[in-house]
Amino acid sequence: MQNTLQYAQQCDAEDPLAHFRQQFLIPTDKDGKPLVYLCGNSLGLQPRLTQEYIQQELNDWAKHGVEGHTDAENPWLPYHEFLTKSMAEIVGAKPNEVVMMNTLTTNLHLLMVSFYTPTPKKYKIVIESDAFPSDKYAVESQLKFHGYDPKEGLILWKPREGEELCRFEDLENIMKEQGDEIALLMIGSTNYYTGQHFPLKKITELGHQHTCMVGFDLAHGAGNIQPDLHETGADFAVWCSYKYLNSGPGSLGGCFVHERHAKNDKLNRFAGWWGHNKATRFNMRHEFDALEGAEGWQLSNPPILSMAAIRASLDVFAEAGFNNLRTKSEKLTGYLEILLDELNDENINIITPRNKKERGCQLSIQVKSADKALHSKLTEAGVISDWREPDVIRVAPTPLYNSFEDVYEFVQRLKLIL
Ligand SMILES: *Cc1c(COP(=O)(O)O)cnc(C)c1O
Repeated sequence: MQNTLQYAQQCDAEDPLAHFRQQFLIPTDKDGKPLVYLCGNSLGLQPRLTQEYIQQELNDWAKHGVEGHTDAENPWLPYHEFLTKSMAEIVGAKPNEVVMMNTLTTNLHLLMVSFYTPTPKKYKIVIESDAFPSDKYAVESQLKFHGYDPKEGLILWKPREGEELCRFEDLENIMKEQGDEIALLMIGSTNYYTGQHFPLKKITELGHQHTCMVGFDLAHGAGNIQPDLHETGADFAVWCSYKYLNSGPGSLGGCFVHERHAKNDKLNRFAGWWGHNKATRFNMRHEFDALEGAEGWQLSNPPILSMAAIRASLDVFAEAGFNNLRTKSEKLTGYLEILLDELNDENINIITPRNKKERGCQLSIQVKSADKALHSKLTEAGVISDWREPDVIRVAPTPLYNSFEDVYEFVQRLKLIL
């Protein structure tokens, strides 16, 4: 790999996925020049298809009113089912293990209602330290809701002193010492801050050895790394669709419930009519009769306009093929890594794992002695990245719409500013 614009452009010319960039709306600066957008880990860009798919639903609403539930081109009644197969492939699950509904934090709570059932002896929850704040608030509030003090009940899986990444053996130690008191492991599959991707199957097996439930938050994994959810054996997982899954701000979240729980009617569940048996849902007179599988956790009839955006995005993913995306992603992030290393700047430290299997597309770059002014200067220079206090820039070159030239340009502009 070479540190030249010419080389980056050659990589783009040889990239079999390069044309997908044209299928997205790339934000521009005030002169109309495309920005270097490396923020797909925060809000993915809009596929051109999205407007068409949403317009279709607006047209059908105009044309059919309530009859659109059955007469729309894509009938609204079963609309969520149109998303299931592609989404299941993206997370490596069986279709009956996946449903799109609500939003991420809501789903996390709903699934903890079912899978966090503490007893006075076994009530603790393990989460990775530096988990995304919403996840931490969610598990803390669940502890409180069940009458436990988060100071005692919440166990943080932490990096060692002077390190940035969590070691699996330290989780093993936590389980060895406190496994009898732990009810749930709730881990972000790919840490939002460091970009570290955890060994999901090993974590699940470890949790299950100690009869704990195991759940993952895939917010930074879904659409970035295929996590083979079914194979991991995890009890549940949740994710959002607006980061790597390009489905628009605040769009619906995803849920996974392992098929071993598909027919378990003993689980606690906060129920709603959309989780009820489809055959009798509209009789409105029956006792709650949960649908089998993840669909049984649905509460409400879902927002079709958001789901249309998810459909558009999933169609783009299906066309590109996830394995192809991952191959490009490893190259693209590998290129970024090399260019950063070649800056030879002792203030720069990539905290994301160097091993490709332990990361997705994001690199978290610590710039010692920098402050937020660095991020502002990058923004002024036309780079959209993400800043985390105290001194970390997160950049996520995504294989669907970022180019090798984007990566090259980012490092050039960073170098100038430094
Ligand atoms: C983005 C993100 C969230 C956001 O949750 P919402 O309920 O969608 O607002 C939560 N957890 C993690 C790990 C995230 O990355």
